[in-house]
Amino acid sequence: MAKSFAYQSSTVRREELPFTYTPGCPVSLDNLAKIEFDHFDFTGRLRTGSLIVHASIISKMRNVLGVFYEERFPIHTAIPIDESSFQGDDERSMEANNSSAFNFRKIAGTDRPSNHSYGTAIDINPIQNPYHYVDGHWGPLAEDADYTDRSIRRPGMFFPDLPVVKAFLQEGFDWGGLWERADFHHFELKGRHPA
Ligand SMILES: [Zn+2]
Repeated sequence: MAKSFAYQSSTVRREELPFTYTPGCPVSLDNLAKIEFDHFDFTGRLRTGSLIVHASIISKMRNVLGVFYEERFPIHTAIPIDESSFQGDDERSMEANNSSAFNFRKIAGTDRPSNHSYGTAIDINPIQNPYHYVDGHWGPLAEDADYTDRSIRRPGMFFPDLPVVKAFLQEGFDWGGLWERADFHHFELKGRHPA
């Protein structure tokens, strides 16, 4: 019998977020939480992932990540972006195909804080699900496959008919894969959240 899905949340300390929780961050630390959860990676190995999210989405994320687990939908890694290998650098995290959520930063190419600044946006498997930048280029790019070609289905890619994508939508999230300028790895909760 398969192990049941493990999921837990805890409060987050200032020292845990040296690079992402910086002056001007629009959300208070009390409204952020660390979630730790079982997920499978691309080799089928069971791992523990960790994401910093807004406290108001803890139970929604349990439901969504439970579907990832049931479906054995692979997540490469979910290592906190504040750890030494990334030091809060989203580009580095994405190039490593790492999944992340909270990170106080502006929307690429603008001055507006992105929903990642509130912990209500989650990026998953950026290599398999690239983003179409304002200047027209796609990133991050893989060396082995062209994931901008969405007509070829490969593990870890998101499509509207997949249970994992439907689970996000059912919980009230928007999926960037449906946007005019596609952001296939990005999910965000609609509406306002306690700061
Ligand atoms: Zn994102």
